[in-house]
Formats: sequence, C-alpha cells, structure tokens
Amino acid sequence: MKLILLGPPAAGKGTQAESIAERYALAHISTGDMLRAEIANNTPLGIAAKTLIDEGNLVPDDIINAMIANRIKQEDCINGFLLDGYPRTLAQVEALSELTEIDAVIDIEVDSEIIIARVAKRRVCPVCGHTQSVEPGSPELCEKCGAELIRRADDTEERMRHRLEVYHESTEPLIRCYAERGLLVPIDGERTIPEVSEEIFEYIDSCLL
Ligand code: AMP
Repeated sequence: MKLILLGPPAAGKGTQAESIAERYALAHISTGDMLRAEIANNTPLGIAAKTLIDEGNLVPDDIINAMIANRIKQEDCINGFLLDGYPRTLAQVEALSELTEIDAVIDIEVDSEIIIARVAKRRVCPVCGHTQSVEPGSPELCEKCGAELIRRADDTEERMRHRLEVYHESTEPLIRCYAERGLLVPIDGERTIPEVSEEIFEYIDSCLL
C-alpha cells in the first residue's frame, strides 16, 4: 500500500504516521525528518536547507524529489510506504506520479487557529524524534525514551503563521488535485489522537478486505 498523509503543519501527520506505519508494516517516510537528519549531520544539503526550514519556507522541489526518488527504492519500501510531508507542491505531485502510483491520500483537516494553539504545546525529542504535546508546568520528557524534549525552531507562533500561509498557497491546491483523481480521504483531525487513528485504520482496513 502506498499512502500519502496530507494536511497543514502540526495537523498530527507525524503522530498518525507512526501508528499507521507500525500497524500495517509500512515504511514511514517523513521528508521533514530526513531534512532534519541532514542538518544534524551537517551535510551540504543540511547546511543549504537549514535557513529555509527554520524560517518555515519550502526546500526546492528538485532537491526533495531526488530525495524521495532515492528513498522509495530502498528495500523497506517493498511492502509499501507512507509519505508524511510529501508532496507539498503541485510540481512534487507530478514528480511522484512519474515514479509510482499512489493508492490513497489521507487528508487530516485542522483549522488554523487550532494549529496555532497546538504548536505552543508541541515538543520534539532530539534523541528518538518522537513528537508530543506538553501541558504548562509538566515535565518535558519524551514519553518514548525519557530524553529531555525541545521545541523546534520553526514551531514559534510567528513561524507557524508563516508556515500556514505557505501551506495555503502551495500545498492546499493538492487537495483538489487528489480529489479529482479520486484518491482523497478527508479525515477530521480536530478530534483526539486515538479517534483520528481509528477512522484512518477503518478506512485502510476497508481497502484491505
Ligand atoms: P515538517 O517536519 O514536515 O513540518 O517539515 C519541516 C520543514 O521541512 C518544512 O517547513 C520545509 O521547510 C521542509 N520540508 C519538508 N518536506 C518538504 C517538502 N515536501 N517540500 C519542501 N520542503 C519540505
């Protein structure tokens, strides 16, 4: 199965992707995580992409398309994969169409003001990459590995407002494009994490029957 997870930043794509990938043994491919790994390893790509990412702008299509073309050829993608954060532009949609055929596009829908409220609480683990929400005053430790959580440089309110503008301009047109191709599966992402997962699992299970 080849799936795309679409939706605005902080809609819960990464969180849902973790459980979908585990349940259906799919490779979880997050272009954001791949780029952050390049930055952490100080590679030429990471150095070139860091400012764009920190400021909430998109990395050029040709770089991302080449990264994905290479990634989906790897052995762990044989059973299928789940794309999280890719494609984000219509040019990326076209590049992906040349590479492979997608089975469904799960679109997690969340209102922008809810995203802004969520991002104030969003933290990420620098050790295992897990993302979670923290309540004010509670210890900021990773629920998976216990490490101290950090806030992403692009997760301030100001940067998130900019990322949402970029999303509306460059990525939202993908919703219509995939709807026209009959692939879109809209999901209400304003509910709890388990409720959203359940609806996604029901959809995927119905495809596997
Ligand atoms: P994410 O972790 O998915 O929110 O991605 C973090 C940042 O990485 C984005 O704000 C972009 O700067 C960059 N990025 C991730 N995926 C893509 C993509 N498909 N196209 C362009 N830039 C991307």
